[in-house]
Amino acid sequence: MNRIYYFDHAATTAVDEEVLREMIPYFSYSYGNPSSAYTIGRQNKMAIHVARQKVAKAINAKPKEIYFTGCGSESDNLALKGITYANSKNKKHIITTKIEHHAILNTCKTLEQEGIEVTYLNVDKDGKINLQELENSIKDDTILISIMIANNEIGTIQPIKEIGKIARKHKILFHTDAVQAIGNIKVNVEEMNIDLLSMSAHKFYGPKGVGALYVKEGIDFKEIQDGGHQENGKRAGTENVAGIVGMGKAIELAYENIEEYNTKLIELREYCIEELQRKISKIRINGARKDRLPGNINISFLGEDSSDLLLKLDEKGICTSAGSACSTGDTSPSHVLMAIGLNNEEAEGALRITLGKENTKQDIDYLISNIVAITTSK
Ligand code: PLP
Repeated sequence: MNRIYYFDHAATTAVDEEVLREMIPYFSYSYGNPSSAYTIGRQNKMAIHVARQKVAKAINAKPKEIYFTGCGSESDNLALKGITYANSKNKKHIITTKIEHHAILNTCKTLEQEGIEVTYLNVDKDGKINLQELENSIKDDTILISIMIANNEIGTIQPIKEIGKIARKHKILFHTDAVQAIGNIKVNVEEMNIDLLSMSAHKFYGPKGVGALYVKEGIDFKEIQDGGHQENGKRAGTENVAGIVGMGKAIELAYENIEEYNTKLIELREYCIEELQRKISKIRINGARKDRLPGNINISFLGEDSSDLLLKLDEKGICTSAGSACSTGDTSPSHVLMAIGLNNEEAEGALRITLGKENTKQDIDYLISNIVAITTSK
């Protein structure tokens, strides 16, 4: 097979080999149901406990504050619906932003149909919310503020600690979608005043099909799936033991050398941006230049259709994204790029390049030479 040059780490990542090694026994001889009383059941319950400790440690939470789920989308659903259903007798208002992932936006739509009012905050040209606008939109019946740490398309990082402070000041719960942040930047739920946080293992070299929701001790939320009593009664269903073990290992590895890893990614990112700016005149960098995920590059190639560009790059073995990974097949312009004020031409030409641990400077050179060849061949 020809080599793949993978630049779509915000969409998903390959399972790390060490992670895979830890998972394998749980697919074969270690198959006991964690709810069973015999040894191979109890052993698996213990394996989940260890993974829960690792996930909790990574974000400075307590193990009992971690609930394993099936993915980031499920964690977002559980957070928003769980908190709303536990509080909606008296409170009927949620605040979020216009640039959230559809896991949040579509959950909000459902809640709106059920009588909940949702305020969607604007963002500036970098994709940042305005803290004053946030504070002004708080009402007496606001249940929850849900604002992502880092955006999946443009990589912009929000002032999460300040948002958390505002939420605390007004005694409103604060949820953050940290699916793009966890494993990529340091997150501390205590320091950042976060009450609920969603994450997903496949974004940090863990397996697909497993996520987690952090809920601060003492906060009541309602389960959204009926069934057994797994995850302290909050998420019914026999646990994905192999996946959970993999998530624990992956998060542990992700934070082992996070500073070194981030320095490398930022160097590669800046090199890539500078070279593209030097070689192609009609481009525009989207998203914040400073408060940005280390591996995120989002560039509009003016006059290009990024879907065509993506397919031509694919012919060369290069994987990139022409929008949010989860909305592939949707040809409408990205809601994130519209919210930061791009015109149609800029939005249509936007390509997302997201770097990860296996990328090298040689890979970036290969990517750049192909982008230059395609965009100048017309
Ligand atoms: N939230 C954000 C910010 C994401 O980027 C994604 C996936 O790309 C999700 C939620 C959904 O996560 P999952 O694919 O695990 O459901």
